[in-house]
Amino acid sequence: MSKVLIVAEHLDGKLNASTAKCVTAAKALSPESIDVVVLAADPAAVAAEAAQLDGVAKVLTVSNPANAQAIAQVLAPQVAKLSEGYSHVFGPSTTFGKDLMPCVAALLDAPQVTDVMAVESSHTFKRPIYAGNAIITVEAPADQVVVATVRTASWSEAGTGGSAAIEAAEVQAELPTHTRFIGLAAGESDRPDLQSAKRVVSGGRGVGSEENFKIIYDFADKIGAAVGASRAAVDAGYVPNEMQVGQTGKIIAPELYIAIGISGAIQHLTGIKDAGTIVAINKDADSAIFEIADYGLVGDLFKVLPELGAAL
Ligand code: FAD
Repeated sequence: MSKVLIVAEHLDGKLNASTAKCVTAAKALSPESIDVVVLAADPAAVAAEAAQLDGVAKVLTVSNPANAQAIAQVLAPQVAKLSEGYSHVFGPSTTFGKDLMPCVAALLDAPQVTDVMAVESSHTFKRPIYAGNAIITVEAPADQVVVATVRTASWSEAGTGGSAAIEAAEVQAELPTHTRFIGLAAGESDRPDLQSAKRVVSGGRGVGSEENFKIIYDFADKIGAAVGASRAAVDAGYVPNEMQVGQTGKIIAPELYIAIGISGAIQHLTGIKDAGTIVAINKDADSAIFEIADYGLVGDLFKVLPELGAAL
């Protein structure tokens, strides 16, 4: 029977929704147990949240000042030590997990399964390839621990209502000294987080300039949405890089995605194919975005958006 350890993703004392999605993916293995490990300087609040996730048997906490920031090289040796006795170690396929889990796999000398979107059996998984245009079935070696990242857009969040035991874990792992935290630079924003928002409004090259993006921000604020962008908009300097949605940006699965002035290139669509309802606003009726949109509005965004905003 499988025993799964999930590495919790958290920031500012709050558990990231990606962890609850990993729990759902782990449940698909029908495992004997699912444990979550919280590595932090002060893991108490995050552990209490993780303990409520439905299906979690135990929450392990590793309290260490070195864990104050999620530095993959610092966390990985601790996770590798803790993996003893587990058949699977899961982390989310977010920036955090994509950074950490390959280090864990390397330390365990195990191959990593990336972007798990479906579980076929304890060692057989489905994952996207070719920018999401094809799905491949991969098999991990049966005699090794399975280290995997979970494609968060493919799984719903596990519910709450659980009451897992919380245990402090002692980890004797040698931590690196060559990697240390210098500082964190992040854009200030009161808007919802792009990767977990239920509604996302994205602008593309059609928006035309950094100043013009105000129309996108205003509209997004009206409906409480996060703001994303196409790579063309990022490359043109209209918005910062962290707002990019798509193959080389963020893969998201909001309930509502509104693409404005975006043509619908395959690399962009890869990032939104799990969205619930897709709405497109584009002045070109032949734009590829209309092929996947549930609702399409052909028109000039600078005319349509203010009208839509006023109607809302
Ligand atoms: P365009 O294709 O130029 O489309 C602009 C659209 O705006 C047009 O459809 C036009 O009709 C419309 N428009 C113009 N003016 C108006 C107006 N006034 N009102 C309404 N509509 C208007 N792209 C991503 O987005 N994310 C990625 O992660 C990504 N990764 C990539 C990785 C690789 C390896 C490569 C090769 C490419 C990648 N791309 C990615 C780029 C991708 O191929 C496209 O170039 C990009 O998505 C185009 O962005 P866009 O739709 O904003 O621009």
